[in-house]
Order: sequence, then structure tokens, then C-alpha cells
Amino acid sequence: MLDYDMPLWRPPSEGDNLIIQATLGCRFNRCTFCSMYKSKTYTARPLEAVFADIDRAARLWPQAHRVFLADGDAYGLPTETLLALAARLRERFPALQRITAYATPFNVLSKTPDDIEALRRARLTLVYLGLESGSERVLQAVGKGSARPMEAALARCRESGLKVSATVILGLGGRAHGQEHMAATADLINRQPPTYLSTLHLMLAPEIVTDFLARHAERMGQPFEPASDRHLLTELRWLIERLAPPTPVIFRSNHASNALPLAGTLPRDRDRLLAEIDAATEAGEETLRPWWRRGL
Ligand code: SF4
Repeated sequence: MLDYDMPLWRPPSEGDNLIIQATLGCRFNRCTFCSMYKSKTYTARPLEAVFADIDRAARLWPQAHRVFLADGDAYGLPTETLLALAARLRERFPALQRITAYATPFNVLSKTPDDIEALRRARLTLVYLGLESGSERVLQAVGKGSARPMEAALARCRESGLKVSATVILGLGGRAHGQEHMAATADLINRQPPTYLSTLHLMLAPEIVTDFLARHAERMGQPFEPASDRHLLTELRWLIERLAPPTPVIFRSNHASNALPLAGTLPRDRDRLLAEIDAATEAGEETLRPWWRRGL
């Protein structure tokens, strides 16, 4: 429909929505588990080019009501630019309900609460944040940075009423650090709960495996040992049983990389989710999504 700069990534929940590419690549682009934007150099597309895409999309699909701004961290654009894009989208799409984007903690922290509030009023009401882990050691081992800015970004979003959909990657610490990975992640979420939480299973594209393993081993002082499906279910159990957020968190493990799709609201549905994990662990591989049906 539009001439996208490929590859084009979007969260699973944006599959039916209009995608407008406001930036190319990811400004950070240093996470060793992520191959999404390795082929791109971060670029903020010229505003006039993005406006032209919006106008073209409006001619083709005037009734679109949800828009996702790609690529990897479009929320990092200057607030004035995002407000101008939001104004154009509202003008061209009369039914527009919400605008969303991927965000890094640094994108969020570069904005004041007033900026976030202004963007929220302009209908940019939700960001997708790759939390990955609450463990300082695991985050350092995969080049993601530190848990401190992550927690500060979650706090700022909460204070400013910006909804956050956060993702956690099961298996990111390897077998040896799974418990530490999940305990620190649950603790962080309990302190600063996002609106939505989902899990992914670690899946590495072939071209990044060597660098991922080398950095992990160097930082952790031992070789990375991948977690089996059974171990990943155990990690999921460790996470769910420790989660006690003070406000409801809508939980999903329906990303295509997961072996076991789950859905519920925490803490309300914790016992049911734990029972479903236990039943799947007991039943073994036949209840899990087969490997050939999983993807990034
Ligand atoms: S995980 Fe997110 S922040 Fe890290 S390189 Fe990929 S897109 Fe960028």
C-alpha cells in the first residue's frame, strides 16, 4: 500500500492497523539479541515525506482508526514533530482513535511529563517498551543497558497517564540465570506496573548468534546455555507467581515465539495462569506450539 523501507516490524496487536514509517531503524541498535534493524542506519524521515505517506494512506484507507508509527523508536522524535504528525493524522482520518509507537526508556525520559501529556491529548496514548528483564546483570549481558532508566521511564509513563505495553524475553539469562532474571523482572513490574505485559521466547537470528554468545559469556563469566521449552515454562511460572502489581496488568503470552499462549489479568488471574502452566508442564511437548509454527 505504501512504499515501506523494509524490513518493517510492528507489534502483533498492530497487525490490522495502519503503519506509518516516521523513522527508519533504531537509534540505540545495540541489543545483542535483536536483529530487527541491523541493516538500517537510524534516520528521522523528512516531515514532508511522512505527510505524503499519511495523505496517500488516507486516500486508500480513509476509515483507518488506529495508527502505529514505525520504525524502532519513533517516540524519540522531537515532541513538536510528533504533535505535527498527530495533527495531520487527526485531520486525514476522522475516525482516528489512537496512535502508538515503539519507545526506548531514553525516548520516554527525553520528554517532560508536559510533553507526554500533550502527546497523549493528541491521541498518542500507548507506547511499546522492550523491558526484556529487570535484572541488571542480564540487561548488561545483552547490551540493553541498565534497569534504572527502564524503571524511571515506566514511572514517568504512569505519572503522565501514558499506557505502556511492555515485553519480557524468557530465556534471556540462559539456564543459569533464569531465576535471577525472573525475580528481578517481577520485582520491577511490581514497583512500576505497565498497562499490558507480554512474554516472548528468546529466538536469535543466525547472523547475530556469535556476537550474542560472546558478550553473554564475557559478562556472565560462563558460556550461555539455552533454555529448553520446559525450562522456559518454569521461568514463566517464576515470573507469574511473583507478580503482585498494585494495579491490574493485562498479561498475554500470545506472541508467535511463545510455546504456550496464555491470557489473563494480574494479580486477579494468577492462580489460573499458574494452573495452566503446571498442566502444560505435566502434559509435555504435545500441548506446546510446535517449533515450526513459532517465529520472531
Ligand atoms: S531491542 Fe529495541 S532498543 Fe534494542 S536494538 Fe532492538 S529495536 Fe533497538
